Amino acid sequence: MRSYACCVCLAILLCLAAVCGRAQSLATARELVQSRVAQECPSLFELYKHLHAHPELSFQETQSAARVAEELRKAGCEVTTGVGKLGVVGVLRNGDGPTVLLRADMDALPVKEQTGLPYASKVTTKDAQGNEVPVMHACGHDIHMTFLVGAARVLAQLKDQWHGTVVFIGQPAEETVGGALSMLADGLFKRFPRPDFCVALHDDAELAVGTVGYTPGYSCASVDSVDIVVHGVGGHGAYPHKTKDPVVLASQIVLALQTIVSREVQPGEPAVVTVGTIHGGTRRNIVPDEVRLELTVRSYTADAPRQTLEAIKRIARGQALAAGMPEDRLPEVKVTDEFTPSLYNDPKLTERLVGALSGWLGATNLVLKRPSMGGEDFSEFGRTEPKVPICMMNVGGVSPEALNESKQTGKPLPSLHSPLWAPVPEATIKSGVTTFAACVLELMGNSAK
Ligand SMILES: [Zn+2]
Ligand SMILES: [Zn+2]
Repeated sequence: MRSYACCVCLAILLCLAAVCGRAQSLATARELVQSRVAQECPSLFELYKHLHAHPELSFQETQSAARVAEELRKAGCEVTTGVGKLGVVGVLRNGDGPTVLLRADMDALPVKEQTGLPYASKVTTKDAQGNEVPVMHACGHDIHMTFLVGAARVLAQLKDQWHGTVVFIGQPAEETVGGALSMLADGLFKRFPRPDFCVALHDDAELAVGTVGYTPGYSCASVDSVDIVVHGVGGHGAYPHKTKDPVVLASQIVLALQTIVSREVQPGEPAVVTVGTIHGGTRRNIVPDEVRLELTVRSYTADAPRQTLEAIKRIARGQALAAGMPEDRLPEVKVTDEFTPSLYNDPKLTERLVGALSGWLGATNLVLKRPSMGGEDFSEFGRTEPKVPICMMNVGGVSPEALNESKQTGKPLPSLHSPLWAPVPEATIKSGVTTFAACVLELMGNSAK
């Protein structure tokens, strides 16, 4: 009896020692990461300012890709460039263990920067249509590249804290969609170690710096793009009775399309039908013979877009018939190949990372976010069979003062894609690099389960 009690006591002591040991090693790992992040921050801030001042449009990211490649190489990665046109892949090997892919996108937007920052972009360039346009990192992909380089540097310095392989990728063309797919089509999961997990971070223009947002399950919408050509019969503006006016018909179609979400989609099911452009006509006294519409159609589940797309076709045709348009002049409705699947954050992976991060950042700094109707082609990394669990989280980039002021005055903060948006740089860089490193240590660290 007595020896049994001793055994029990010993077992409890051993367990406590193990728990204490693990807690201690976690605390040590955190301190090590935090001190390396602090050490790297000044030079990462310089890198960020350079990237911010030199933005490039989608599939034009030559200089950004070259810089990311150079930085990953300097950090100790085996680097391959030109993956899926301009993609960069850096592999950091560290013995047996899982493979984790960390992704940063690299493209900027045709937006004229108005932040007034000393390192604001003054760049202009030709877009895909040949128009001269201003360029700005208005979505924060410059800070994503900085997170990636920072994580590579920190993890390369702390190889005794994790085991396995980290694949760092700089992805082109997220904004116009196609960059993720082009990297996958070029053998991202075949030519390089296939990931067990993929993690991405996006800066957030609503969350305070120091907080991280997460959304388990569906987080971003699937995006379909639809073009409609509304035909008419042109003529003199003074003799409408001799024409079939496509301006009036297109206007009716635009209004009728609004009934899809309000009357056809089941309430509670997220869906968006937006007519983003409408073009037709040349002069006030001419009835044109054609009007063109461009739509974006969004939802989460696989069935919802089919129902919405069918409704768009039916409404366009029905409105034209009601206007007396002959069968050979009915609208043409075309679903383009500009498509992004919905982003599904693996709930188990998300829960695991959030659990780990709350130890690093404090549970109150992890913020559950509602799904958004934005699109994000990081979703593609989770769709290749056998499916890899993926998770994208949001790194807060707003100063607490700006957030408070906005709450008090009701004045909205600049959103992503705004000419006024830029994250608070240094604190956001620290938060993003720490988050990437914390995710890797959770998935492949010494204490990984
Ligand atoms: Zn964007
Ligand atoms: Zn973005």
